[in-house]
Amino acid sequence: MIIGGEWADSHTRESFEVYNPATGAKVDSVPRGDREDAKRAVDSAKEAFKGWSGKPAIERSRAMLRIVDAVRAGVEELAASLTAEQGKPLRESRSEINSFANSFEYYAGLIGRERGAQTPFSTGEGYFVVTKRPVGVVGAILPWNFPVSLMGWKLAPGLAAGNTFVVKPASTTPLTDLAAVALLMKTGLPPGVVNVVTGPGAIVGEELLDNPGVSKIAFTGETATGRRIMEGSAKQIKRLTLELGGSDPMIVCDDADLELAAEGAVWGRFRNCGQSCTSVKRLFLFESIAESFLKSFVERVKSIVVGNGMEGSTHMGPVHTPEQREKVESMVADATGRGAQVLVEGGTPTDKKFSRGVFYMPVVLGEVSYDAQMAKEECFGPALPVFVVKGLDEAIERANDTAYGLGSSIWTKDMGRAYDAAEKIEAGTTWVNSPPISRAEVPFGGFKQSGLGRENGVEGLDHYYETKSIQVLDYGKGRKWGFPI
Ligand code: NDP
Repeated sequence: MIIGGEWADSHTRESFEVYNPATGAKVDSVPRGDREDAKRAVDSAKEAFKGWSGKPAIERSRAMLRIVDAVRAGVEELAASLTAEQGKPLRESRSEINSFANSFEYYAGLIGRERGAQTPFSTGEGYFVVTKRPVGVVGAILPWNFPVSLMGWKLAPGLAAGNTFVVKPASTTPLTDLAAVALLMKTGLPPGVVNVVTGPGAIVGEELLDNPGVSKIAFTGETATGRRIMEGSAKQIKRLTLELGGSDPMIVCDDADLELAAEGAVWGRFRNCGQSCTSVKRLFLFESIAESFLKSFVERVKSIVVGNGMEGSTHMGPVHTPEQREKVESMVADATGRGAQVLVEGGTPTDKKFSRGVFYMPVVLGEVSYDAQMAKEECFGPALPVFVVKGLDEAIERANDTAYGLGSSIWTKDMGRAYDAAEKIEAGTTWVNSPPISRAEVPFGGFKQSGLGRENGVEGLDHYYETKSIQVLDYGKGRKWGFPI
């Protein structure tokens, strides 16, 4: 772990192991931190807050630019570590580490350049000034699907605003988060500004919820865990940003570029082995183009090369854990049990070369019942249900028929139609003619049960500030305050 700028063991000296999902081999072990360790880290972040929050914005900005250079210089090493513990292909790992650096570059450029204002009261008696203050110590609780880039989405705006952190990585992917934070410390970030405590969410995470030294929780993960985090944060009214699950619809209209859309659907569903919050999880096709679209799409899906992410030829790595694979298997069985048509069979491979890893070949299902789990819940793996619709109204109605509202996409050449659909789809983002790509400058977050607040963009920075209003009455113009009022 990293506490107060130094490598730290758990006070119990207990540890747990991290495995490579492509080979089943042990990668390394990390300390099994507990509440005592988390408390130590919170104390360290509280102490560091005094210095870091008081630094001029330009100094924090320069410190962040040093981080950008260090991370870009360390891409290969960090990417190899990420592929070993998470399973995604090396190319995707490199892109994730670069995205981590991009977050720091974006927010380093944003701070110290805000516009200010002193605004007269509407009554003319004086004026007010609105300023921003950092929130304090932030507990960042991370998932395993994008352990590094999603840490960047929290650290970069949070540090820019002057906050300090205790990071709790997912227990199956702590290694690259630790390596990345160690790199940050090497660039001269003051001790205690970012601490990392490894250990079970139900212990370390719960301490972050209970500890009065933590002012905000920034969480990405499952909606059910998000609900628990809201409950746990309620005791002290902690600030919250929650990035939760999604069941993103992709709508392909009759005038879409079908080749482009088929490529986008492959990328959108099978990148990171289908384990992204904004993966394409439900595909809606206009009736008139369904057959020709599926012909090209199915061919592309069948040509996906599944294997160890370390091999250059691999398009798609393993599923992250056996539990994840079981969940996907059970959702596919539920859909086929309700009469779904198998368009790409996929599933757990029997070939010996896959026997040690947690592999699952891509699955595509047609004529899926709207009552199937895949149609309603988040399917976090490489299986895609396809639905045929008469037109846009039906597609949007079906797309909105879920408790989630994270991402969505529409594929059409008619920009008026695209804009109209984007207004009606209940989701934090609608991509037009694009698979789900997140960018540091674009606000990201969910409607409905997909989350609370926004990460990235200027909105992302706002969530790491308290707004402070200063009201000044002009001396002499002020009212008299005695009774009667
Ligand atoms: P979780 O939501 O359980 O875990 C995310 C993080 O929360 C981990 O760091 C976890 O720690 C921590 N955590 C767990 N319980 C608590 C708690 N009580 N208090 C504080 N922190 C806690 O997701 P999983 O990794 O278990 O994945 C389960 C499912 O979630 C997946 O099948 C997928 O459907 C969905 N998911 C969605 C993501 C998205 O981006 N939309 C991302 C990841 C998962 P620990 O690892 O130690 O348990």
